[in-house]
Amino acid sequence: MKIGTPKEVFEGENRVAMTPDSALQLQKLGYECAIESGAGAAAGFSDAAYEKAGVEIIKTAAQLWKAVDVVAKVRQPTDTELKRMAEGQTLISFFNPAGNSEGLELAKSKGAHVIAMEMVPRISRAQKMDALSSMANIAGYRAVIEAGNNFGRFFTGQVTAAGKVPPAKVLVVGAGVAGLAAIGTATSLGAITYAFDVRPEVAEQVESMGAQFVFLDFEEQQQDGAATGGYASVSSPEFAAAQLAKFRELAPEMDIVITTALIPNREAPELWTKDMVESMKPGSVIVDLAAEKGGNCKLTVKDEKIVTDNGVTIIGYTDFPSRMAAQASTLYSTNIRHMMTDLTPEKDGKLVHNMEDDVIRGATVTFEKEITWPPPPPKVA
Ligand code: NAD
Repeated sequence: MKIGTPKEVFEGENRVAMTPDSALQLQKLGYECAIESGAGAAAGFSDAAYEKAGVEIIKTAAQLWKAVDVVAKVRQPTDTELKRMAEGQTLISFFNPAGNSEGLELAKSKGAHVIAMEMVPRISRAQKMDALSSMANIAGYRAVIEAGNNFGRFFTGQVTAAGKVPPAKVLVVGAGVAGLAAIGTATSLGAITYAFDVRPEVAEQVESMGAQFVFLDFEEQQQDGAATGGYASVSSPEFAAAQLAKFRELAPEMDIVITTALIPNREAPELWTKDMVESMKPGSVIVDLAAEKGGNCKLTVKDEKIVTDNGVTIIGYTDFPSRMAAQASTLYSTNIRHMMTDLTPEKDGKLVHNMEDDVIRGATVTFEKEITWPPPPPKVA
């Protein structure tokens, strides 16, 4: 069978779902590989590099979709892309099934089998295919780099002949995958780093990365993430008030705030209010990684960088992985390659879509002219 990758059509998207290295691995599984001409260029992978790796270069997207049995791409497909699908063809991509009922209907009517990368169950066995985590890791790292690029001072403290420089203070709100990556990056650059999460079980991880966990003066137990599969749920009004009071106290001291707080299937909680921004020092930077879901900071503008009247820069970009397209493409194409390994038990270039496999079933959103999303709850071990 043949697997192919078209050029991403979303404006400004630089990533690509197949790299020359991942193509070599896919060939070891018995597949022929193809790519639309120029698909890797924005990520630094030339047609010549693909050709050298034995990949067929196909001139147009329409020809590519027609020529392959499996399409691997990054962004949710457009209607035009989905209309190109043929019965029995497989698509592996981010798909946003919860907000894409039209896409589900279209894929179903076409008889295409769609594997949505964001639906890969977050269990140990599937970590190698977990593209949400590999992209969140990049976003957390890049958020700190972007903050540093907009911050006029060092992260680390220095004593030099020209004077003493205090270290920057960084607060990371939300210590999931992106938050932990941000913490690791900020501490390695020498900042004094603080972190907060509603799930107290992450305090140990935060501290092991050299940051201080911010505890609240709150009598009730904080949320127990174990009850919600490791994810956060909505905070009680009393807890939320105690959290805001603590942030209000910290705001004037912090140079950089990275917010990453999300609750599955909801708008992002608003945690950094206008008055907190107003109390920050000029030159401070906020990077809001929750901008896609409405933002954790009240003043965030999605996909923009703004500077407030009191000189605080607020960054609401939503394309951090695409800003590191070479790295992101390498990790994402590896996630895809691992998915293909599980779909090819005999390593004979023949895809076996085993709906009895929890990971494959969980990620499949259309199969044999049926919408198979949402998946059944995972089997109790
Ligand atoms: P996420 O992106 O959904 O949320 C980011 C963080 O925001 C979470 O840590 C959450 O607790 C926090 N948050 C929510 N509301 C908040 C608030 N009001 N104030 C402060 N913080 C708030 O999370 P994620 O990065 O996708 O990870 C969520 C969980 O999934 C974690 O337990 C993680 O360890 C787990 N996980 C497991 C696997 C795996 O086993 N394969 C892979 C990835 C993540």
